[in-house]
Amino acid sequence: MEKTPDFVAKSTWEKVLYYIALNDMPPPYLLVDKDIVKEKIRLIGRGIGGARVFYAVKANPDIEILRLIAGMDVGFEIASEGELAILKNLNVPAERIITSNPVKTFRFLSEARDYGVRYYAFDSRAEVDKLSRYVPGCSVYIRLTVNNEGSEWPLSKKFGVEIDEAAELLLYAKEKGLDPSGITFHVGSQCNNAYNWHGAIEKARELWDICSERGLKLRLLNLGGGYPIRYTKDVIEIKGIEKRISRSLKQKFPEGIDIFIEPGRAVVGDAGVFVATVIGKATRGDENWLYIDVGVFNGLMESVGGIKYKYVVGSRSAPTKWIIAGPSCDSFDVIDKDVEIPEPEVGNRVLILSSGAYTISYASEFNGFSIPKTILI
Ligand SMILES: *Cc1c(COP(=O)(O)O)cnc(C)c1O
Repeated sequence: MEKTPDFVAKSTWEKVLYYIALNDMPPPYLLVDKDIVKEKIRLIGRGIGGARVFYAVKANPDIEILRLIAGMDVGFEIASEGELAILKNLNVPAERIITSNPVKTFRFLSEARDYGVRYYAFDSRAEVDKLSRYVPGCSVYIRLTVNNEGSEWPLSKKFGVEIDEAAELLLYAKEKGLDPSGITFHVGSQCNNAYNWHGAIEKARELWDICSERGLKLRLLNLGGGYPIRYTKDVIEIKGIEKRISRSLKQKFPEGIDIFIEPGRAVVGDAGVFVATVIGKATRGDENWLYIDVGVFNGLMESVGGIKYKYVVGSRSAPTKWIIAGPSCDSFDVIDKDVEIPEPEVGNRVLILSSGAYTISYASEFNGFSIPKTILI
């Protein structure tokens, strides 16, 4: 395993091998390279003048990762009382917290209000009614539907409204005593189509103008998340995406408005490497099956939605095709098919790259398999 595989930083790879060599902690566990997280926090948003960055906590809410990020000059985007509780624990001030979940629980709303959180997303009359009751006078932004094509993890069906309804809802929020501040959207997670942001910004501008004609002056545009990371394929670079976003903003929006972005995956994704073990092998017909101790339920849930991870094993034999499955008894627990890797032995380690985002945060203890620990290196 000496040579650095594609799509992982050499420095991360060295730290991972060093950690494994010096610690006999039993797998599975997730190693997260804190230098990569810091590097990403510094990089993201830099290409969009004046943008405020809010890390989307759901990508990885590990308290040590949040502590690291809290020590830098960024905020947090949260959706629940549980995420709020971790930030309270870290004494993150309310001014650095926003919530872009368009439908929130009652308990979250009252706790967020008590803590002093000001910014809330919404996309329905029912939510305006709830917000005006629980957080009177709060600042709100409307979730607009935008094209999610080219995203591996589309998010636009569950939330968002079209332009006309969005304008009505912003006016309704005002009527109810809220502060209608602006617009948000999400181009879809792992979005590899830079044009999505341009299209979304154009659409937001249309809504902005309609609001202005109707006497509502907005001041905030929240660009959501969506920046992609490298799993098994190259993706557009953050610098390139931000250059295009910046150009679209200059074309479409006046200077001096508030710009928010909410990266999740891109902050922590490629900082993470799972250390797992081969626990079984089988041949079924002409299929080769490999069983490992991290599966769909305890870490690799996104594989079900089409995320393809890269697996690294120590064996030097010629690569063959494998179906990789998790440890549980459920037939849903199949992680990937047609994975070309050299044949490992039962008991060998398997390293799974770019696995820092949406892995532990999705994990359950289904079937008695514990959630892998996260260790910062
Ligand atoms: C999940 C989420 C994000 C983060 O998205 P990534 O694709 O991980 O960058 C940002 N904003 C909202 C509202 C989200 O739900």
